[in-house]
Amino acid sequence: METLFITELKPFLDAVAEQMALYVPIKSGEHYTYSKYDLSGTIAIEFNEVRVCTPVKEFLFPMCELAAVFPKPVEVGQVEPFAVFGLKDCDLRSIDILDKVFAENEFEDQFYINRRENMFIISTDCTQVGESCFCNLFGGQGFSESGFDLNVSKTNNGFIIETGSQKGKNFIEKHSELFADVPDALLAERSENRTQIRSRLEQNNVELQFNAPVREIVQSCQDSAVYDAEAKNCVECQACTRVCPTCHCFYLYDTRSKDYFAKMKMWDSCIRLSYAAVAGGANPHKILGDRLKHRFMHKFVYFLDRYGLDMCVGCGRCIDACAGGIDIKDVLKKLSEEHRNKDQDWDKEQAKLVK
Ligand code: SF4
Ligand code: SF4
Repeated sequence: METLFITELKPFLDAVAEQMALYVPIKSGEHYTYSKYDLSGTIAIEFNEVRVCTPVKEFLFPMCELAAVFPKPVEVGQVEPFAVFGLKDCDLRSIDILDKVFAENEFEDQFYINRRENMFIISTDCTQVGESCFCNLFGGQGFSESGFDLNVSKTNNGFIIETGSQKGKNFIEKHSELFADVPDALLAERSENRTQIRSRLEQNNVELQFNAPVREIVQSCQDSAVYDAEAKNCVECQACTRVCPTCHCFYLYDTRSKDYFAKMKMWDSCIRLSYAAVAGGANPHKILGDRLKHRFMHKFVYFLDRYGLDMCVGCGRCIDACAGGIDIKDVLKKLSEEHRNKDQDWDKEQAKLVK
């Protein structure tokens, strides 16, 4: 990895935007969303302190797309290269999860793969910790060490750029006039900033120090009343699964016109009543609490068992978006408490047997 230095973002972002479509964070109320970068300079350049409120999956797996047409097959079209600036460590880890589903193993989604191969990732270090962020529970740390083409770290006197791929190196070589050597003092400042962010994440989430792995807690508390209790506040808006960067369920919707039939691929949500319904009317998840439980089981048990990764990156988006005030951190805390009590009951039973 090579590290270089720039004093301003604009010439750097202009150079990216001259080469390909570039999406950048813009401030929207208290949050950030993405907007297309405008070379004329009408959009204020923001260095987003924390992740944007929309998930990166929107760039790779759109909410709705044409998947198949009959009688003529649908062509998997050419995707033009595009860049996204301001992705955080949690975003990059969510892409790893989507890759497992859509680009690795036995099923390959050519629509996803085309976008993925043409995406130029410019990640940035977190400079704040959001109230709902708890990425440290799942190995996050507020900055990325891999998964990017270029990474940008903000310092008091400019920005450190780090290369993470051949694509990133090629860009730097092509625009070498933009970059200078990094002063050693700024590398030390970056290191200090990263340590501070990591320790703030730990301080903010001190209550999430559980006595067992999350998988074990969720798996052993399937009989918990927590899910039905939380379901009383859920209004089934499905916002939690829409904003989640790792939720990837979709359904195929058939439509037809005079000359052809088409299948649309649309985002689905396990919170939806008919999500698990099958022909004949049977539905194993008629009860909302069971649907919430399924979401936890998928994230922390089934996905981990199949792919070796938790299907949550601790970004906290579902907490911010929930109309019912349901907080995944609180649910995990309650489950952890139940798990601890179960363990203590078990120990007491064992002690009785020994006597
Ligand atoms: S479940 Fe919530 S915290 Fe976890 S990745 Fe999805 S949106 Fe982020
Ligand atoms: S965002 Fe909250 S209220 Fe909406 S479906 Fe998800 S858990 Fe229920």
